[in-house]
Amino acid sequence: MATTFNPRQLISRLVSNYYKSATGIFPKHIEQREFGFGNFDIKVLGRHMGFRDEKQFRDYLVSNAPMFASCSQSYYRDPTARPMEKKDAVGAEMVFDIDATDMNLPCQIEHGKKWVCEICLDSVKAEATKLVEDFLVPDFGFSESEIEINFSGNRGYHMHIDSEKVSHLDNFARREISEYIAGSGMDFKTLFPTAGARATKLLGPKPADSGWGGKIANNVIKTINMGPDELMRLGATKQEAKQLYEKRALFEMGVRNGNWDMVYIKKKDEFWKNIIAKQAVNQGDKIDKNVTADPTHLLRVPNTIHGDTGLIAKKVGTKASLGKFEPMKEAIAFRQGEAKVHVTNSPKLIMNGEAFGPYSDEDVIVPIYAAVYMHLKGVGAIKGFRAKAR
Ligand SMILES: [Zn+2]
Repeated sequence: MATTFNPRQLISRLVSNYYKSATGIFPKHIEQREFGFGNFDIKVLGRHMGFRDEKQFRDYLVSNAPMFASCSQSYYRDPTARPMEKKDAVGAEMVFDIDATDMNLPCQIEHGKKWVCEICLDSVKAEATKLVEDFLVPDFGFSESEIEINFSGNRGYHMHIDSEKVSHLDNFARREISEYIAGSGMDFKTLFPTAGARATKLLGPKPADSGWGGKIANNVIKTINMGPDELMRLGATKQEAKQLYEKRALFEMGVRNGNWDMVYIKKKDEFWKNIIAKQAVNQGDKIDKNVTADPTHLLRVPNTIHGDTGLIAKKVGTKASLGKFEPMKEAIAFRQGEAKVHVTNSPKLIMNGEAFGPYSDEDVIVPIYAAVYMHLKGVGAIKGFRAKAR
């Protein structure tokens, strides 16, 4: 292995080679999109770029080997014009961005926000599934086939809807949709019309209701049936939780008919208002609201390389394909060869079904994809490369 070895040169060469034959890298209406590219240090270094066709785009990727390739959700008459208003938007996809970083998972306290473990990847996949099953299909009427899912290339998923139904929605409508899904700004008084009124029953949503009402009723019933601890986690006192748990059959019967008053709770309005606000935060989907609300936001081009991992921001397909998608296997881009890495400190890494590490201050020889991953995650440095596999 050579002494004047430069890992960035190696990675750039791998990226360039990948783009020579990569498939599915062309976004629809390529000539109407704004592009931006990044290097090893900055994700979007320059934007306001455009390509007239697929060949020009591929040539750019092969010659420049960008570490990040992003494009707009918006379609423009003139994508390279500046400032933004001069681009003249003609429509836009709607995109939902779900990232494990925003989920505050317990495992992240152990391995840090920058690292991604199997729990992170499974949790974010479950969240993406929830977005489709609990919101996009039942509440907005999209069909599963309209929702295209892409792995972000690191620790999340992007869900794209490219349809006439959403193409012309303005930023305000997009903001409303994202707020709704996140469960923010929910109005208690709309859900519980008699709240605050004296000497009346507390009427509220039924499990069969559409939208958030039904979600809340179902989830409260589920939570109560799980035992007093679950309810206490949402802020109930021990006594309130015990009371509701013991009389759960009666409570459930009431709620099924929209009557939330079958079990006596002191200061019931305030009690349910607090519980439901907490529950909505848990139950709302953990989307990045700014990505959905602002279609000028640039997002990773599907099937391009993610420069924090060396993985492909792989197209997954629809929800039916998401369940069995294995990002740390199927999104591997560089498969030929192996590398020597000096690892400073790496948690266990599972790629292509094989476990590497944990490593601490040691030299290891691993397949090139694992080496690039550790290098780009900053837990090690590649010291040499051998093109021929073991
Ligand atoms: Zn994790």
